[in-house]
Amino acid sequence: MPAWSRLLRDVPDFPRPGIVFKDITPVLADGAAFADAVASLADAWRDVAPAAIAGIESRGFILGAALALALGCGFVPVRKPGKLPGRTLAQDYQLEYGHDRLEVQADALPAGTRVLVVDDVLATGGTLRAATALLRRQGADVIGAAVLVELSFLHGRARWDDPAPLRAALVV
Ligand code: AMP
Repeated sequence: MPAWSRLLRDVPDFPRPGIVFKDITPVLADGAAFADAVASLADAWRDVAPAAIAGIESRGFILGAALALALGCGFVPVRKPGKLPGRTLAQDYQLEYGHDRLEVQADALPAGTRVLVVDDVLATGGTLRAATALLRRQGADVIGAAVLVELSFLHGRARWDDPAPLRAALVV
């Protein structure tokens, strides 16, 4: 287990009864752990050299922006509805606890830009699949999906039927 992962915290019954929330905030609060976590994300993707990171609101922004700096590429936000100015594209999706919608700016990236999608946690996989579909509709070339933590008991990887690789820094 990487050292940073010891700071991950399980929060029972959040945000709803029955959900064990995997809280990354103690990792972010520790400078060395945050740097190590971002480095372990970056190490998995240096070979594919993305031109941009697409971070999913909101914890995907934190990790994605840091990862973009580590890999020397740009960052685009994939946001909850109504947050982005200008013309947007939207994608509905299912969550482990409910449903939601993601949006991206229609002109976020030039067509064919090699994009890596980033989020903190892979649960059922619906969020990453929706973000990937949305970015492809926007014209991006999605070359992979990265998460800090994969919750294997929710089998999100089994539902990832995509040619682009899905890589997790930690599988629990
Ligand atoms: P899913 O679409 O089911 O893979 O859910 C992933 C998204 O919901 C990510 O943006 C996570 O931040 C969040 N999420 C879902 N389940 C959890 C969990 N048990 N702990 C922390 N975040 C979660």
